[in-house]
Parts: sequence; C-alpha cells; structure tokens
Amino acid sequence: MLIEREAPGGQAGTSSRIENYLGFPSGLSGGDLARRAVVQARRFGVELLAPQEVCSVHVEGPYRKLTLADGSEITCHAMIVAVGLTYRQLEVPGAAPLGGAGVYYGASITEALSCENQTVLTVGAGNSAGQAALYLARYAAKVIMLVRGSSLAARMSHYLVERIEQTPNIEVRLNAEVDAVLGDDHVEAVVVRARDGATETVSAAALFIFTGAEPCAGWLAGVVKLDAHGFVLTGPQVTEGGKRPKTWDVDREPFLLESSVPGIFVVGDVRSGSVKRVASAVGEGSIAVQFVHQHLERLK
Ligand SMILES: Cc1cc2nc3c(=O)[nH]c(=O)nc-3n(C[C@H](O)[C@H](O)[C@H](O)COP(=O)(O)OP(=O)(O)OC[C@H]3O[C@@H](n4cnc5c(N)ncnc54)[C@H](O)[C@@H]3O)c2cc1C
Repeated sequence: MLIEREAPGGQAGTSSRIENYLGFPSGLSGGDLARRAVVQARRFGVELLAPQEVCSVHVEGPYRKLTLADGSEITCHAMIVAVGLTYRQLEVPGAAPLGGAGVYYGASITEALSCENQTVLTVGAGNSAGQAALYLARYAAKVIMLVRGSSLAARMSHYLVERIEQTPNIEVRLNAEVDAVLGDDHVEAVVVRARDGATETVSAAALFIFTGAEPCAGWLAGVVKLDAHGFVLTGPQVTEGGKRPKTWDVDREPFLLESSVPGIFVVGDVRSGSVKRVASAVGEGSIAVQFVHQHLERLK
C-alpha cells in the first residue's frame, strides 16, 4: 500500500524537466515521470491511498501502527518512509497573502506560461533556483535572480552557472534580498534590498522562491532518531559507539537504510545524508525493498 498526502510525484512531479534520470536521454517532465510511475506501480499491484496523510506511527511489538489524518489506522510489519521535503517559506511582508498569486515555490509550465513576456524574479542560489531561472527565461522577457551571497558558484553546479551566464535575458543580482512583495490580488512588484541597505522597487509578474527545504519527518520525532536538522538517521548512523539504540529489539544489526526502529526503513531526501536526486531516491527505495524482505523473513 502506498500512502500519499497530495498527488504522487513529490518534488520530482513539480520539476519542469528532469534531464539526468537513466533511460530518458532527452529528459522528461516530472509530471510525465510521476504518471508513468503510478501506472507501473498499479500494474505491480500497489494499492494507492491518496490524498491521505500519515500523522503518527507507534510501535507495538512487531507491529508498526500508522494513524492517518482521517483517524483511521493501518498496521504493518514493515514500512518504507519516503516523505521528502517541503520548502522553506519566505517571511517578508506580502509573500504569504500573494502565495499562488505570483509568489511560487516551484516553476511548472503553468506558472511559466503565465509570465510570458514579463519580468520575473527568483530567490535562491542552489540548483533548484538555477534550473528554474533557465526554464523561466524561455518564457519571460527577463529573469532577475536574487542571490543573498556574493557568488553564484558557491552552491550551484558549474554547468548551471555557465548556462545562466550564457543566457542573455537572465540578470544575476548578488548580495540582494527581497524586502517585500507588492500587489493587491497578484504580484505587481518586488522590493529588493541590496547589502548596503538601499532598496529598489522592481515591477514584476512573479516571484519564484527556492530558499531551501525542511524534512517532512515531524511525525516521526520521538519514535525514530533524527539528526540536528530533523532528517532521519539510518543504518550505521543509529548505533552510537557500536551500541544499538534502546528502541532496537531484534537480534541483528540495523540494515543500511533502516531507522532506529526495526522495520521502519527510510529513503530519499528525508534520510540524513542522502543525495537529493530522483535516481538516488528511486535506487534507495529499490534497496530498501530487499531489506524489508530480509526483515520479514526473520520475523517468522
Ligand atoms: C523544482 C525541482 C527540480 C528538480 N529537478 C531534479 C532533476 O532534474 N534531477 C534530479 O535527479 N532531481 C531533481 N530534483 C530533486 C528530486 O525531485 C528529489 O530528490 C526527489 O523527488 C526526492 O524524492 P523523495 O521521494 O525522497 O521525496 P519527495 O519528492 O519530496 O516526495 C515526498 C512525498 O511524500 C509525501 N508526503 C510527505 N509527508 C507525508 C505524510 N505525512 N503522509 C503522506 N505523504 C506524505 C509528499 O506529498 C510527497 O509527494 C528536483 C527537485 C525540485 C523541487
């Protein structure tokens, strides 16, 4: 059974183009990849429960009991947690009220088309911001990238920096932040603040925010071990100085992708130290399934 609180696809589903996933040499949209994955999962007999949120889990002997948002419970012997990340919100005046009305936390085709031949801004200096700026530049008249630090290359892949430099309608503003978002029922302008405190009001149709993300692991706190940033620890990370955690009640070492509770496996972006890529999340999922089989085998 697969439980999903929104629609299957996660972050990948919001990506306009995934270029680095094996088997798709010309790339494909995240929506297309998600649709294919759902069809394939159903063909293999997966029961899909969506939209349905998992709110908590508790452990009763060999059982892991999930409570869902509608109050129903699901009991299992093993589960794979792949709950990923949510985006950090921009806390400036105007950003929250104009959310979805010109303030966006992802750049899909719908938002890109709505900005055709207009000026838009992006916030952030990671790969998500870089990819979004390049994508938006195909539709918008001008893309202004606001970067808080003094270099684009500090956090962004070299190939993206190069492509941004070669794109004439992308302007990179270093040492710049958003001070406020202006507009009545849609974004009309963004107040940009430079490091010296000087502000400028830039007319714009949209603001795209890529300032990092929080792991969706709050509901696991107190059940499994998390790292200082709230990502879930797995495998060798859960044994301190070779000592198994107190929650460990089976006679074996934790498997590589297993949390501090036996039978709760964790993969993808929510896992501490994971590589934030589609292929990595999918690969970890495939490895975790083998560990699930081994875990169930030993319960017999
Ligand atoms: C705009 C963008 C572009 C990207 N482009 C690329 C790219 O080109 N190549 C690449 O390799 N990677 C790319 N990535 C990164 C890639 O999408 C992620 O690494 C990958 O999606 C991680 O998968 P995941 O399953 O770990 O988590 P997520 O994709 O975050 O999925 C988690 C899912 O769990 C659901 N969920 C969360 N909490 C609960 C709960 N309590 N109950 C039920 N469901 C829950 C969420 O709704 C979500 O659908 C991109 C990311 C973004 C945002």
